[in-house]
Amino acid sequence: MIPFSASVFRTIRPPWLPAPALSRLCRVFLLAAGLLCAVGLPGVAWPVKAAEFGDPGERMRVEWRKGRVVVGVYPRPNEGYIQIARRVMKAPADFKAIEAFNAKRPVRTGIPVNFPLTALKPVLWGRALRALHPGDELTGRGWTHNVSDPGETLIQLTEAYTGSKRRFRELARYNRLKNPNVLRLGREIAIPLHWIPEALGFRPRAVKAPLRLERDGRSGRLYAAYKVRPRDTLFSLLLRFTDRERADELGRMTRRVLRINKLASEKRLLAGRSLRIPVEWINEDYLVSPYSRTARLAQRKSSLAQRKSPPVRRKSSLAQRKSPPVRRKLQTRPPKRAVPRRKAPRARPWGGAQRFHVILDAGHGGSDPGAAYGTPGQPDRVYEHEVVYDISLRLARLLRGRGMRVYPTVEDPSHNRPVEKLSTRAIGRERVRVTPPYEMKSSKVAVNMRVYLINAIFRRLTRKLGVDPKRVVLLSLHGDALAPSMRGAMAYYPDRRLRVGEFYPRGRVYRIRSEAVPGRLFFRQADNRAAEQLSRDFGERVIRSFVDHRLGAAHRRAVRPYYYRNGVRTLPGVLRYSQVPTSVLVEVGNLNNRAERLALLKGSTRQRVARALADALDRLRADRRRARLVVKKTRS
Ligand SMILES: [Zn+2]
Repeated sequence: MIPFSASVFRTIRPPWLPAPALSRLCRVFLLAAGLLCAVGLPGVAWPVKAAEFGDPGERMRVEWRKGRVVVGVYPRPNEGYIQIARRVMKAPADFKAIEAFNAKRPVRTGIPVNFPLTALKPVLWGRALRALHPGDELTGRGWTHNVSDPGETLIQLTEAYTGSKRRFRELARYNRLKNPNVLRLGREIAIPLHWIPEALGFRPRAVKAPLRLERDGRSGRLYAAYKVRPRDTLFSLLLRFTDRERADELGRMTRRVLRINKLASEKRLLAGRSLRIPVEWINEDYLVSPYSRTARLAQRKSSLAQRKSPPVRRKSSLAQRKSPPVRRKLQTRPPKRAVPRRKAPRARPWGGAQRFHVILDAGHGGSDPGAAYGTPGQPDRVYEHEVVYDISLRLARLLRGRGMRVYPTVEDPSHNRPVEKLSTRAIGRERVRVTPPYEMKSSKVAVNMRVYLINAIFRRLTRKLGVDPKRVVLLSLHGDALAPSMRGAMAYYPDRRLRVGEFYPRGRVYRIRSEAVPGRLFFRQADNRAAEQLSRDFGERVIRSFVDHRLGAAHRRAVRPYYYRNGVRTLPGVLRYSQVPTSVLVEVGNLNNRAERLALLKGSTRQRVARALADALDRLRADRRRARLVVKKTRS
C-alpha cells in the first residue's frame, strides 16, 4: 500500500522553499499533483520517491537517489558536520567522509545534509527504511519488501537491509530471481531475518502461542520453538505453522527440520521435547509484527500461555474463520436428504446488460497436462487437464440452462460434450480461444493468452455492453497436487498485496492476436482491494456449496489468497492479471489423494462438482441482483 499522507505531500516542496512562501498558484499545482498521486493516473502505479520521518525538530528525509538510499538530515541551529555526525552517525569520527559526500558545501539551516543510509545509527537506519518503504511487512519468508521505486536495485536493497552488498547473490537465490540485475516493480523481495542487523528493529518481538521465539546462541538465527504434544506429527505441525502443503515443498522442509533438530527420523518426535522451526517459515497468522501495538502483549501472553491451545487468530483472516468443516465429520453425519438444488429459472428475455456472465477457464491442456497421478496405462491414471475440462463442459451446460452467459477460454474440438470416461492421453488438443486460436505449445504463453482473452471479454462486456462489473465472474478450474493424505477442494482469490507489477508479455505470438492489447497493464491498489473482497466472498460461497453437495472441502483454510511455491508466495497468473473484479480459482480436489482421484475419474462426481459450482454462481447472481435493487430503491 502506498500511503499518500501529508508527510509525503510535504516532501514535494523543495527544501529551499519555506512553506509560507508558497504562492497560491503553487499550492494549487501541488494539490493537483498530490491528487494525481493519490488517485493514480488511469492504470498507473505511482511510486513514492521520498518520505520524511523523525520527531519534530529532528526531521529527516529519505529517498532513493541514483540507485542508493540517501538520508537528508536537517541541521539544528549552529550545527556543523561534526555536531550532526555525532547526533546521527554510527561512527561520528567519519564526519570527513560525510563532508565529502556533500561536496564540502557548508552546512546551512533548512538544507539537509546527506548521509548514506548505512552510515546512520541503526535506530535511525531502521526508521528511515520503514518511512521509505511503509508497505514492508513480516511474512513467512522474512522481512518482505515490495519493489516500489524504479530506482531500486537488488544490490542496493541488499546493502540497505543487511548493511553490506556481500549477500547480493545469495539474496537473489533466496528470492529465485532469474536475473538479479532486473527488478520489476511490484516484485516481492524477502530478506531472511538473521541477515538484518538486529538493531534495525525488523525482527519479530514475538510469535503467537503455542510457539515461542528462540535464538540460537551460536548462529544468531531465530527459531519458533514448539513443545511437542502426544499425537503431534512433524507433518501436522508443518502444515499448521507454515501453511505449505505441496508435496515437494513439505518434503524439503521436513528434511531441514530434522537436520536442525538433530532428529534421525520423523518417528522420533517425542512428546515434551522442544522442536525448532525457522522463524522465516512461520505463516503470518502466528507472527507478531515488530511494530504492532499488541506485540508486547502477545509476547507476554505467549510466554504465559505456552501450553494453552489454539492461537489467537488475526481478525483479517476471514477465510480461516469460515473454513468449512472437516470432511471426515461430514461423512459421519447422516446424509442430508435434500441437497439444495434449485429449479432452473427460465431464460428471461434480458439484454446482455442484465444477465450474469461467467468466464470459464479450464486449466492446462495442449502440451501441458497439469498434475498427473495414478499408474500410467491403468484405470486410476488421471490428468488434470482432462478432469477440469470435462467439468467445465458440464458446468457450462448447467449455467446456460439457468440463463447465464458462459465464455469458455479453452476448447477441444474433439471433446465438446461431457464424457463418462476421460481420455488417458497426457497431451490434449485443447486450445485457447483467442483469435486466431492458440494451440497450447507453451503453457506459459497459454496463461498469457488466457489473461488477454479474459480481459478482452471483460472489457467488451463492461465497456461496450454496459454490464455491471459485479455481474461478471472469472472461474478457473484446476486439480491439486498436494501431499497424498490431503483432500478436499480449495478456492484461491487474489491477495491485493501480490497483485502488483505489470502484465506485459511481448512477442509476435501475442501481436497477431486481436485480444492482445499493446502496452502494459497495471493494477491499482484500490481496484485490488475491491477485487480481493469480491473474490474472497465468491470463494467462500464455492466452498460452502462443495460442502452442501457432500463434496470434500479442504481440512484447513479452504479459501486462501495465495500459495507457496518454492517458499515464495505466489498467485496463479490468471488471478494475478485478471481485471475481472470477481476472480476465483478452484482446485476441485487433490489428484495426489487416491480416493479423491478415483472419485473424480467418475462422471457422476464431476457432475456433482459442476452442480456445486453452478449453485454457488446462482446464489452469487441472486445476491448481486438484490444488491442492485436495494441501491435503486434507496436512490428513488
Ligand atoms: Zn493446475
